[in-house]
Amino acid sequence: MEYAYRYGDPGRLYLNVTNRCANRCSFCVRRDSDGLGGALLRGAEEPDFSPLREAVMRHGGPRRFREIVWCGYGEPTYRLDLVGEAADWLRSGGAKIRLNTNGHACVIHGRDVLPQLGAAVDRVSVSLNAPDMARYLQLCLPDLEQFGAHGGAPVTAEVLWDSVLDFLSRAPAHFEEVQASVVGHVLAPGEIEECRALALALGAHRFRVR
Ligand code: SF4
Repeated sequence: MEYAYRYGDPGRLYLNVTNRCANRCSFCVRRDSDGLGGALLRGAEEPDFSPLREAVMRHGGPRRFREIVWCGYGEPTYRLDLVGEAADWLRSGGAKIRLNTNGHACVIHGRDVLPQLGAAVDRVSVSLNAPDMARYLQLCLPDLEQFGAHGGAPVTAEVLWDSVLDFLSRAPAHFEEVQASVVGHVLAPGEIEECRALALALGAHRFRVR
């Protein structure tokens, strides 16, 4: 499993530090492929800082990139401590740090982790994916059993959907750039516009159809 990989834009380096994710999205690239851009990304192991640093150095080191992205094959905020630990070194050459996330972080950790993430990350892209909870459940198929109790209660579909909206709405206070995204081919044109309106109403700076 590659912990750092390039894909498309040569000024951008992607970091793959976990395959864990509570969603099983119908459109997830993991359904059809073990990797991207020639890099094997599927694997159960999760690196600490030292092997991650070695992987980044094999690509020339952080100075070589304009943007470094905590990405997948999974939900990177499971590795919240590593995201924080690596932040200063990744930024040392001037790269901006971006997080691609499903917005589950506060439910995963059972507390508000936005301040901690905001200190370690400059830009965030949140996969909104749906205009409402029913469509989110249909498209993203979250496995609620993967979460422990949240605030002393089990994580229900409502709690999870609300947590994605809460993440997005509070993100502008913690990150310099906040993008919400959807996957275009699984939504009707009207649904995409509903998602755009929802994202912008929640305070996202940008909306992207992937
Ligand atoms: S949230 Fe991302 S990593 Fe998780 S299943 Fe959906 S597309 Fe895949």
